Amino acid sequence: MSEFEGLVAVVTGGASGIGLATARQLAARGAKVAVLDLRPGDLPEPLTGFRCDVSSDAEVTAAIDAVVARFGRLDVLVNNAGIGAAGDVTGNGDDEWHRVLDVNVVGMVRLSRAALPHLRRSASASIVNTCSIAAWAGLPQRALYSASKGAVLALTLAMATDHLPDRIRVNCVCPGTADTPWVGRLLDAAADPEAERAALAARQPMGRLVTADEVANAIVYLASPAAASTTGAALAVDGGMYGLRPRGP
Ligand code: NAD
Repeated sequence: MSEFEGLVAVVTGGASGIGLATARQLAARGAKVAVLDLRPGDLPEPLTGFRCDVSSDAEVTAAIDAVVARFGRLDVLVNNAGIGAAGDVTGNGDDEWHRVLDVNVVGMVRLSRAALPHLRRSASASIVNTCSIAAWAGLPQRALYSASKGAVLALTLAMATDHLPDRIRVNCVCPGTADTPWVGRLLDAAADPEAERAALAARQPMGRLVTADEVANAIVYLASPAAASTTGAALAVDGGMYGLRPRGP
C-alpha cells in the first residue's frame, strides 16, 4: 500500500508507543516521516528523528523548518506527544497544571501554527491529534490529564471548522488504555502490577488493553485519502469503553 507516496508526515512523540507505531505505519505506506521527540534516540529505518520539545515555540519552529528544508514539503501532522498526571483537582499545583496543559494542548497549537503555512500548500493536508477517552469518560483521579484531553477534543473541532477553507482536515483519536511504554511505567510503579493491569483491562468492555498499532491504524486512516470526507471526528479506540458505557436505568 502506498497511499502516502510523495507525502511528508511529522509525528510528535514519535519515538515511543503510539507515536512510534504511527510513524512506522506511515512510512510503510510510502510517507517520508519526521519524528519530533524530546529523545528521538535510535529510530528504525527509514524514520528520521528531530529533537524537539513541543513546549518550546523556538524548538517547534526550528524543527518544522528543518523538516521542510530536508523533505521539501509537509502534508500530514500527527500531534501525539503528551504527558500524564494523576490526582483529583487538589492533587496538582498551578505549576503542574501549566506544565501539562503546555505540553498536551499548547504543544499541539505550536505545531499546528508552524505547520499550517506548509499544509495549506498540500492537496492532501491533514492533522490528527492524539486525544484520549479521558476527554469523555470522567476517569477517577485524572482531573488535570482529563482537562488537557478535553481541550484537545475542543481544539480539534475548532481547527476542523477554521481550516475547512484551507482544505485541511482535522480529526482526533481517543484511545482507551493502550499497552505502551507509558502504561508500562505506570504498571511498574503500582504495588501489584499484574492486578493493576487486570483492573485497567477490565474497565474496557473487550477485557484487554488496546495495542499501540490499533491506535496507529486509526490515526493513519484519518490521515489518509480514505478519510477524505472526514473532518472534526473523534474516533474511539478503547475496547468499547465509551460507546458501551453503562447508561443508567
Ligand atoms: P509514550 O510515553 O510511550 O510516548 C510518548 C512520547 O512523547 C515519548 O517518546 C516522549 O519522549 C515524547 N514526549 C513527551 N513529552 C514531549 C515533549 N515535551 N516534546 C516532545 N516529545 C515529548 O506514550 P504513549 O502511551 O505512546 O502516548 C502517546 C499519546 O497517546 C499521548 O498524547 C497520550 O496522552 C495519548 N494516550 C495514551 C494512552 C495510553 O493508554 N497509552 C491512552 C490515551 C491517550
